[in-house]
Amino acid sequence: MADAPHVVIIGGGFGGLAAARALDGAAARVTLVDRHNYHLFQPLLYQVATAALSPGDIASPIRWILRHQRNVQVLLADARAIDPAARRVDLDRGALSYDFLIVATGAAHSYFGHPEWAARAPGLKTLDDALEIRRQVLLAYEAAEREADPQKRQRLLTFVIVGGGPTGVELAGALAEIARQSLSHDFRSIRPESARIILVEGSPHVLAPFPDSLRAAAHRSLERLGVEVRTGAVVTAIDEAGVSVGGESIAAGTVLWAAGVAASPLAKSLGVPLDRVGRVTPQPTLELAEHPHVFVVGDLCAFVQDGKPLPGVAQVAMQQGAQAARNVRRAIERQPLEPFRYHNYGIMATIGRGSAVGDVFGVKISGFAGWLFWIFLHIFWLIGFRNRFVVMTEWAWSYLTMQRRVRLITGERLWPSSSS
Ligand SMILES: Cc1cc2nc3c(=O)[nH]c(=O)nc-3n(C[C@H](O)[C@H](O)[C@H](O)COP(=O)(O)OP(=O)(O)OC[C@H]3O[C@@H](n4cnc5c(N)ncnc54)[C@H](O)[C@@H]3O)c2cc1C
Repeated sequence: MADAPHVVIIGGGFGGLAAARALDGAAARVTLVDRHNYHLFQPLLYQVATAALSPGDIASPIRWILRHQRNVQVLLADARAIDPAARRVDLDRGALSYDFLIVATGAAHSYFGHPEWAARAPGLKTLDDALEIRRQVLLAYEAAEREADPQKRQRLLTFVIVGGGPTGVELAGALAEIARQSLSHDFRSIRPESARIILVEGSPHVLAPFPDSLRAAAHRSLERLGVEVRTGAVVTAIDEAGVSVGGESIAAGTVLWAAGVAASPLAKSLGVPLDRVGRVTPQPTLELAEHPHVFVVGDLCAFVQDGKPLPGVAQVAMQQGAQAARNVRRAIERQPLEPFRYHNYGIMATIGRGSAVGDVFGVKISGFAGWLFWIFLHIFWLIGFRNRFVVMTEWAWSYLTMQRRVRLITGERLWPSSSS
């Protein structure tokens, strides 16, 4: 085995993990490198950010997931650069040589040329982001409880979410439920249900990738929850006071970012042309034309199928990861590589407790039926029996009690400087 080809996979997210699994039993030594020791189930991150689930419920150690796969070694390391000419990946400590490389490092936030907004409007991509958002949301209510000035209090109880895609919609729905249901009996000086939740979207609709009827259903569900939905509204400034949307200033204590994404910066070191958001365009086989033996998958990969770019979703990443691995096997066996083709099983988004919209296998579902299907799908999709069991129990409990069990404010720093 020591002289078997060495396959390095960078990233243990949806794409990288699917690639590692598809190399089970291959005549290759596989090294999977990730800067975190866990695989994160990002579709449920907003539930950690809104105090419904704990971090451990939606993340599993990569080493544990791959424990039975004898040909895979997992390394906790940060990949700093790729040198395709030397077939080497430079890590924070040391380097790895490869015969084949699969790059699956995903994406990060992009603030549309305003990096200074990041400090005021955290985005949701990692577990740390989710915990910081949870902290800011819960602290806003605590600060409002101590605030005597009604105007300042209203500012603290105003939450703006920028971006009306699935993450923004899910966050807005959950924040409205926190205000109207979970916290409604817990304070004495404030009425949490008077909180304003404002969802700002630059395009004419929320949930742009969904069919018209489902967008409209999602819009109605948000309004039923008391979310103010502003479509066709572009954010022009974010500062200590709040946000500017078009010509209007909205005084808001909490602003959350669910808008742009940019590909992982590691792509730059490949020295190939990148698209507008920093992604790499491979050949149909997912291999790079400039560097045979290097494959890119997932959010880092710009792939056009039937004239349309594929969306940055988990299913695309998983199917690409598996295809890249199959092509590595074929290359080892000196067979021609196969082109990748995405099979779209559907898209879904949930809007608070008891409501979701989805377009699954061409069937449009919404409302309570959509929500039950969303639950089934996510439980099925989570990794590990323990996580499935715990998440199911948490959801059942919070459905019956309307409570969010994980309302913990953690960290040393208590107040952000602006609200002290
Ligand atoms: C809040 C949120 C909600 C979402 N909801 C949905 C949903 O409901 N349905 C859906 O289909 N998709 C959803 N997505 C999108 C989906 O999660 C992504 O499309 C998918 O994760 C992409 O997979 P990936 O493997 O390309 O990247 P990721 O899953 O992001 O994995 C990248 C991995 O690479 C590692 N990494 C990055 N850089 C380095 C480095 N330099 N060195 C070492 N390791 C590195 C990271 O630690 C991470 O583990 C959501 C995304 C977010 C952020």
